[in-house]
Order: sequence, then structure tokens, then C-alpha cells
Amino acid sequence: MNIHEYQAKALLREYGAPVSEGRAVLKAEDAKTAAGELDGPLWVVKAQIHAGGRGKGKFKEAEAGEKGGVRLAKSVEEAAEEAKKMLGKTLVTHQTGPAGKQVNRIYIEAGSDIERELYLAFLVDRQTSRISIVASTEGGMDIEEVAASTPEKILSFTIDPATGYMPYHGRRVAFALGLTGGQVKQCVALLANLYRAFVEKDMEMLEINPLIVMPDGNLKLLDAKLGFDGNAIYRHPDVANLRDETEEDPKELAASKYDLNYIALDGEIGCMVNGAGLAMATMDIIKLYGAEPANFLDVGGGATKEKVTEAFKIITSDPNVKGILVNIFGGIMRCDVIAEGVVAAVKEVGLQVPLVVRLEGTNVDAGKEIINTSGLNVIAADNLSDGAEKIVKAVKG
Ligand code: GDP
Ligand code: MG
Repeated sequence: MNIHEYQAKALLREYGAPVSEGRAVLKAEDAKTAAGELDGPLWVVKAQIHAGGRGKGKFKEAEAGEKGGVRLAKSVEEAAEEAKKMLGKTLVTHQTGPAGKQVNRIYIEAGSDIERELYLAFLVDRQTSRISIVASTEGGMDIEEVAASTPEKILSFTIDPATGYMPYHGRRVAFALGLTGGQVKQCVALLANLYRAFVEKDMEMLEINPLIVMPDGNLKLLDAKLGFDGNAIYRHPDVANLRDETEEDPKELAASKYDLNYIALDGEIGCMVNGAGLAMATMDIIKLYGAEPANFLDVGGGATKEKVTEAFKIITSDPNVKGILVNIFGGIMRCDVIAEGVVAAVKEVGLQVPLVVRLEGTNVDAGKEIINTSGLNVIAADNLSDGAEKIVKAVKG
């Protein structure tokens, strides 16, 4: 789960991280009051969307020469004006995809003077199962680009969970970033605080880009991006409260309400499967037969008819789906329940694309009977590869 920049900064401020004063606004008429509460002479007006690259992004509605999603203002009036221009518009960045994201919130911040822009991140490194620190002198840039063109400018190492964060980790980062004197001490303390926040709040990612050095030599977090482990959110009601559902894929949101494990993908074959392993095998075999899955969907072991109906509706609501493959191995799950769910869903939402159903296991005969007598235009399949072959053929001809 991701949160907005202004929420991330408020959270990290509680951990003692240096951030600027700021105000979030939802309505243009509140922008002037908000900006007026902050000290000048510089204000930064920032679009709040769950995507990076806002500064270099472009509004779909932009007039010639209009700036992106991060704008500097020299007066309260100018700040309010820029906030008004961005609210309700659609910002496209390299992370939003071509559709962009509508800007519903603006963060106005007291502007900072920048001497240097640095990069700092904490991640969960899946290979070593440890938290890793990533730091670079090339802040304010796209870090993937830095990694590709000048990898020597990136320092990355993991932290042993047995020791946790140690001051020498911080010094290593500070020296790599070219910090000196009191800055080293600041950096060591900052990293200790960020590490504590990362672990205590079950984060998956913490990215500060840029971390700046100001002309007075002090460090400050100018941007902050936090991602939390969705499986641990129940332990953090304060974080759960920060969820902004308007930023999430509506299909994934609907799936989470029905406790379905669903992830939207780019392909054309919608999949409804029970069990994560079978779901992955189904995606693989669709690829093997020359098509791409439109989603990962595990309806779970004990799915009800309602859950299956909802899952089917989510799949059919995706305009990219050109065919559906239902692949069920009934162990705990009963094939007749799946069949009833599919029939109910099709009756409710209709079926505009070919549907291949492969059922096997508990109550398979009852399941097939329900499908066969439903009057639906369903292509039956006997096994996994037969199902994949048939749906790919039905879609691609
Ligand atoms: P992003 O584009 O989504 O990563 O948004 P950032 O918050 O990182 O802002 C993009 C860039 O705007 C930064 O890299 C800075 O160069 C600039 N910027 C942001 N805040 C300030 C500020 O307070 N003062 C100045 N001078 N520049 C800023
Ligand atoms: Mg940034």
C-alpha cells in the first residue's frame, strides 16, 4: 500500500526526520489560506498522486510552456494560483502510464534552497531477505537511469537483522554522499530514525529523492515515497487510515473488498483460478500457447458463489480481456460452487468474449452438469493445456 508524499512526510517527521512545513488542500479556495500559514519567500506547490516523476511530468490539459506537477511560487497569491491550475487536471509522468492520474490533492510547502540533491532509499531485498540501503550523489534524477548509465554512483548494501542499523552504516552512506563534519552526524542519526520507521511500520520501500543539502549545510527530506507491506497493514490502523482508494486500480480495490487475490496485468486472457500455484501455472501455460494473461486471480480455497460471481465481474470489467479461462481444481473448493458462480455472473453481466472452463476434482460432474444445462456458450476443456490451447485459439483464431 502506498501513501501520498504529504502523509509520508508527516509520518517521518514523527520519527524526527527534517521536513519542511506544509499544508495539504483538496479545494482551490483553501489554497491561499494554506499558503498564508507558511513562511516565504519561496513556496512549492506539489500535485499529490501515487506516482513519482511529477516535476518532469506533464498535464494533459497543459497550455504551451506550462510547468509539471511541482511548481515554485514567489508569493502566497502565486502559490494559490498554481494550486488552482493543477487541481482536477490529469498529470502524466513516466510512472503513471499514458492515462495519467487525476490530481485531487495539492501539497503546499515552504520552499527550500538547494545546494545538492542526493538519493536515499531503504528496500526489502528479496534475494538476501534483508533490508538494503541505496544511496547516490545523483539525487533528483530517475534512479533507474542512474543505475543504467552510471552504476558506480550508487552505493548499495544490506543490513544484518542480527545487529540492525549501526552507526557505521550511516557513516558509510555519509562518506559515499560526500558529506563532511556535522553533516555526517546528521546523516547517521537520520538513517537511524528512518530505519526505525521502516521496521516499526512494516514498510516495503522508503525513498527520499531528493534528500538535499541546504546552503547552511543541513540535510532535509524534499520528497518522500513510502510503500507498506499490505499483509501487515492490519497491525497499523494509523497507516491504514492514510489509504486513498481513489489512487488504486478500481479492479484491485473491488477484489480486496471480497478478499480475492487479484493483480491486473497487461494481457488479453482473463484468468479465474483457485490456488496461487495453479494460478501461476495457468499464466505460464497461456504464455506458452502464445498469449498473455490479463490478470492473476486466485479465488482461494473456500470461495463462495458470491465471491466467484464478484471475481467474474472484475475480470469482465477489464476492456483488455478478449477471452476468459476458468481453471479450477476442486480440492477444498467444490466444482459445483464455481459453476454456480460462473453461471450467476454471466447471467448478471453478460458474456461478450469466449469462455473456456476446465473443472477437475470434487463434485466435477455436478459442476459440468450446471455449466452444460445453463444454456451458456461455454467451451469445455479436459485439462490445463487443452484449456489454454482452446482459449488462445478462440481469441487469436
Ligand atoms: P518528483 O518529481 O515527483 O520526484 O517530485 P519532487 O518532490 O522530488 O520534486 C522534483 C524536483 O523539484 C526536485 O528534485 C527539486 O529539484 C525541485 N524542488 C522540490 N521542492 C523544492 C524546493 O523546496 N525548492 C527548490 N528550489 N526546488 C524544489
Ligand atoms: Mg522526487
